Amino acid sequence: VVKMSVPSNRILKRPGNRKNFHIHTIFSDGKLSPRQIILWAKRKGRKHISITDHDNFRAWADTEGVVKKRTYGGQTLRELARTPHQGKVKRLRVTTGAEFNCAHNGTKIEILGYHFNELGKGMLALQEKTMGAAEQRAMERIQFLRRKGFVINPQKIDPFNYAWLDAELSRAENKTLLEKLAPDKNNPLLSLRSFLFQGTNSPYAKEAQEAFIDAHNVIDTVRRNGGIAVLAHPLQYFRHLDSAPIEQEKKVEELVQSLKKIGLRGMEVEYSIRADGSYYTKEQMKLLRRVARRNRLKIFGGTDYHHSPRDTI
Ligand SMILES: [Zn+2]
Repeated sequence: VVKMSVPSNRILKRPGNRKNFHIHTIFSDGKLSPRQIILWAKRKGRKHISITDHDNFRAWADTEGVVKKRTYGGQTLRELARTPHQGKVKRLRVTTGAEFNCAHNGTKIEILGYHFNELGKGMLALQEKTMGAAEQRAMERIQFLRRKGFVINPQKIDPFNYAWLDAELSRAENKTLLEKLAPDKNNPLLSLRSFLFQGTNSPYAKEAQEAFIDAHNVIDTVRRNGGIAVLAHPLQYFRHLDSAPIEQEKKVEELVQSLKKIGLRGMEVEYSIRADGSYYTKEQMKLLRRVARRNRLKIFGGTDYHHSPRDTI
């Protein structure tokens, strides 16, 4: 478990900024429920937020046949946001959202969909597909780890929150192998996970036949339902070029130009995550802003909020 520290979030500390378009809840790997997010955002004085869980928008609507429009104490999220509540902001705008894992010309990317009609044509079917692919990827991880010699027999698999995988890797039977393979002996679990799974050149990415839905499908469905498609954290796909910003800018630009042809309308420019202390620097945000301007893409920002109320919503 990573211990979260109190953030100094440059995006949201800037006076006047009252928006956050990147928030996770218990419907993926966040710690708070959508209802708690709404209440907390009001208390913090936010004006407009979007809840953007991985591969699903179950905070709003469930898969077909289960719960169509989700309510919280009898109220929908929008009604909850409008209900007066003590705090800095009485009325909060809350926009539908999701952060969809998908692939575009062989690159794994994440597309933020905003402002779509969650019950519109094809939306629930899209959700079923993206959730199915996430489940398949979880199974692929299990098989990959078993091939490496780990004992993995999970009772319950949650494709949006890999806490169960950590528990499996921490089994006594895996101790020797874990310690042998982990790059950082002080933090074997975390370092092994990032070594094996993170990035396009990771052993897992090279070996596994990963299930990803095509970006075209995501963008199209979101747009046809009144939504807007936005590229999430565009530098994340080119972190290997962090020390070569000119090259990195070129790569980001190529990607967004290609995505624009299939309907991308925005880019996440202001972005911060805290789990590993990786903020986009001022320079990196400037880089992204330039790309967005040149390509006439709308600029979005958020904190990729996952954790406790001490984090910045
Ligand atoms: Zn996210």
